[in-house]
Amino acid sequence: PTYLDCNATTPLDPEVRDEMLRMFDIEYGNPGSRTHAFGAKAKVEVNDARQKVAAVVGANPEDVVFTSGATESNNIAIFGLAKHGRAKGLRRIVTTAIEHKSVLEPCAALAAEGFEVVTVAPRGGGRVQVEDVLAAASPDTLLVSVMHVNNETGVVQSVAEIAEGLAGRDCFLHCDAAQGFGKEFEQLRHPGIDLVSVSGHKMYAPKGVGALVMKRRKGRRPPMAPVLVGGGQELGLRPGTLAAPLIVALGKAAEIAVRDRDRRRKACERLRVEALEALSPFAPEVNGDPEHTLPHTLNVSLPGLRSEALMLALKDVIAVSNGSACTSNSYESSHVLKAMGLSPERVAGALRLSWCHMTLSPDWKAVAEGIRLML
Ligand code: PLP
Repeated sequence: PTYLDCNATTPLDPEVRDEMLRMFDIEYGNPGSRTHAFGAKAKVEVNDARQKVAAVVGANPEDVVFTSGATESNNIAIFGLAKHGRAKGLRRIVTTAIEHKSVLEPCAALAAEGFEVVTVAPRGGGRVQVEDVLAAASPDTLLVSVMHVNNETGVVQSVAEIAEGLAGRDCFLHCDAAQGFGKEFEQLRHPGIDLVSVSGHKMYAPKGVGALVMKRRKGRRPPMAPVLVGGGQELGLRPGTLAAPLIVALGKAAEIAVRDRDRRRKACERLRVEALEALSPFAPEVNGDPEHTLPHTLNVSLPGLRSEALMLALKDVIAVSNGSACTSNSYESSHVLKAMGLSPERVAGALRLSWCHMTLSPDWKAVAEGIRLML
């Protein structure tokens, strides 16, 4: 089958793989070793990756913290600010109903500790309205956490406008950019976005690496307290020996994302057009405002068909998901689509097709044939 589940994880870019293998095989020193050239060389490589990641969002390289992925970055961002919030009496956290669990769960944990968490619902097209977020952000707000691009629908959120609207306020703005980092650039460069979470395996780097990028206000980083303690690496926020080969891979992936952005986008747009054409006889209902959807994703419901049955019937032709696979074991229906107010039938029928510039066209005829047999 053709792999159409790139929002779950992408294949590795061959150039990224080469860089990673070079690190594994040749530059295997510990970047923290100060007594010999092996360590020094690995450190240079890691710092080069820092620069490449920072460049994507217009941050300083010294303000990049490498992590194991976006889940860890989101946890560090949210829990890391809690101490500051308590000290300053900032007890409110504003987030959205369409966030990934790795944002929602840390927020829920802080709610259990006395923070007041306000969850803003999206409108029908899957976009959270800027004014809804700004209205929820009362003066005692510590953190606003709004994702950059939704993993289920591919809908881009107005994070730059939210940053603009929050200007001058005390609260910090965090964006989970796991799905959009390296795909949609302009917004993440907004200086009002204080914290950006990045995931390697959503952008053609390997699994197990990510970053939390901080931006400074008046020269100061967000006042983060560590969640883990140890050897003090990564500004004390992510202690532990740096995974240099994975980090270098992430840096390379960031560099290529900038270099190849137009070519990649065109390849994805072509696939989206093909997919919609193939599905057009079945009256597809696209979930998420197409005007604001990245071309990598098509979330679609076919009237009268349930997603589980469809996935099973098409499993030899295309590998897709129903959008909730990220939450592993459970096949509960999508909290994102439900929050968008879609009917239970439409939610139960939703398929998420997601691809990348490396995806070859699937056998669309076989896809259509498979669907026809179900009707
Ligand atoms: N945030 C979003 C929007 C995601 O799609 C994912 C991926 O599942 C994550 C966070 C978690 O990323 P990671 O697998 O790097 O921990």
